[in-house]
Amino acid sequence: MKHIGPLAKLIEQFRGLPGIGAKTAVRLSYHILEMDKGKAKGLAQAILEAKEKIGYCQTCFDLTDADPCRICRSAERDVKQICVVEEPRDVAAMERTREFKGRYHVLHGHLSPLEGIGPDNLKIRELLERIHRDQVTEVIMASNPDVEGEATAMYVAKLLKPLGVMVTRIAHGLPVGGDLEYADEVTLSKALENRREM
Ligand SMILES: [Zn+2]
Repeated sequence: MKHIGPLAKLIEQFRGLPGIGAKTAVRLSYHILEMDKGKAKGLAQAILEAKEKIGYCQTCFDLTDADPCRICRSAERDVKQICVVEEPRDVAAMERTREFKGRYHVLHGHLSPLEGIGPDNLKIRELLERIHRDQVTEVIMASNPDVEGEATAMYVAKLLKPLGVMVTRIAHGLPVGGDLEYADEVTLSKALENRREM
């Protein structure tokens, strides 16, 4: 079915988003056309505002609207304990457990030779700098429990051990191959509590 120009363009934009197939893209586009103008404007502005005001914390590389971010600024968060995760959404998942009182470091991905992602594509150098600067004593590897996540955890552990840093891995019990993001709070709290030295 051919859609008129601006509608086709909107559908195309939705189709480019993760998890949205052709049918959903069409449904969302029609929904927006039926919205009143004020609501549609609000949606468009929210997208622009989020893009303009949110960037990365230059310490932990989580998303933030102020640099350093709230957690990196907090005197109540232990500077010597760093939980390493793959993506900003994993920080949000860990924070929901309310168990962790240290700080985070977001790698922005995982090692994947097949996709051409090596150590230089991740925020690993920045992690090393923090470890030296803040005399970090424990690094908790909370990369996803899948093949790439495990390989990433092993790689970082190997780098850090000679520096005298204790490196731990969050416990299994998380669904293997699963995403940290989708683990419930209890499972994630337990995984953190039962972490073991690598
Ligand atoms: Zn930060």
